Amino acid sequence: MNAPDPIELTQSLVRLNTINPPGHEDQCVELLADLLSPAGFDCRTHNYGPRRTSLVAKIGGKPGHRPLAFTGHMDVVPLGAKAWQHDPFAATILGDQLFGRGSSDMKSGIAAFVSAAIAGADQWRDGPGLTLILTAGEETGCEGAFDLARTAPELLGKAGALIVGEPTSNEPLLGHKGAYWLKAQASGVTAHGSMPHLGENAIYKLARAALALEDFAFDTPAHPLMGAATLNVGTARGGININSVPDAAELTIDIRTVAEQDHSHIYRCLCNKLGGQIQLSTLLDVGSVYTAPTNAWMQDVFAVCGQHLGSTPVGKTVSYFTDAAALKAPLGAPPIVILGPGEAGMAHQTDEYCLVSRVHQGVAIYRDLITRYVDHANTFSSAS
Ligand SMILES: [Zn+2]
Repeated sequence: MNAPDPIELTQSLVRLNTINPPGHEDQCVELLADLLSPAGFDCRTHNYGPRRTSLVAKIGGKPGHRPLAFTGHMDVVPLGAKAWQHDPFAATILGDQLFGRGSSDMKSGIAAFVSAAIAGADQWRDGPGLTLILTAGEETGCEGAFDLARTAPELLGKAGALIVGEPTSNEPLLGHKGAYWLKAQASGVTAHGSMPHLGENAIYKLARAALALEDFAFDTPAHPLMGAATLNVGTARGGININSVPDAAELTIDIRTVAEQDHSHIYRCLCNKLGGQIQLSTLLDVGSVYTAPTNAWMQDVFAVCGQHLGSTPVGKTVSYFTDAAALKAPLGAPPIVILGPGEAGMAHQTDEYCLVSRVHQGVAIYRDLITRYVDHANTFSSAS
């Protein structure tokens, strides 16, 4: 089977505008399914909204084994206020740089694993199997992956390991922090601003809560790689006009958690700290992801990357979250590596680009990882 050229495929994907919102990832699904189906992949789609399509493509698989899974998101972030020097949808190549929105984050990652998967389709048809999970709606809180996990877990099936193709410059990462976003609301009693003693000021209650949050200390120890959990109050608003006592005020809280931290425990600690005057509600709940460097498959991933990069990578984690948080449980909690050919520093940037040479290197790494997974099926993919 002739695999698509990963650079041309990156260009084709970049030329499809999937800025989220509105996303319209169905364009990418159509393109990718047209490549994967003729190569023997069983392609299934899942919509979580109009034109918000995710694609799960599978090949091979045998009883007693779990497939190797890849995941990538097809949506991209808006262009930002600053003008671009390069057309964000032209996918122009200048030297080693391929410019465009999503070139690094993460259409080159998708192109690399789709290309690697198709190139070896005949080889891995009889092995433990491959599952490619292409998601919609990642950039606004992984809602495409969460919807897939919640409403169609049978499409995903289990996996023996998961590779998240986010931009890491081909450096393997052991995991990422979780994100727990909350809204805190205070209510009061309105009155004329000239008679505040007749009212109950919601902003004062909220301000006391904000100051209490400034001093909030997590009761769990820092993670050796991820460091400590963090908390930030991002927005605060309250009141309608200057001459009224405000009867409502609210703020939003962005908490980034580390491996082993339980979000429901944090919720209870915050309720205790803020007291009965404040109502807390959850806006986003994305768990952390972490695989120990001692895991046998992870050690193999590091060895393969080391061969291609020329030096053994150092175990690291990142603070941004990925679809892995949503996919981990339905896939059966496999080991997870974040590893992709996009430039780590280029995500969400003006004049975003990826490096052509790095994309080719990414395809080679992915091919080696798939081959080794097939060769060591009894070690890595046993379903027991
Ligand atoms: Zn991304």
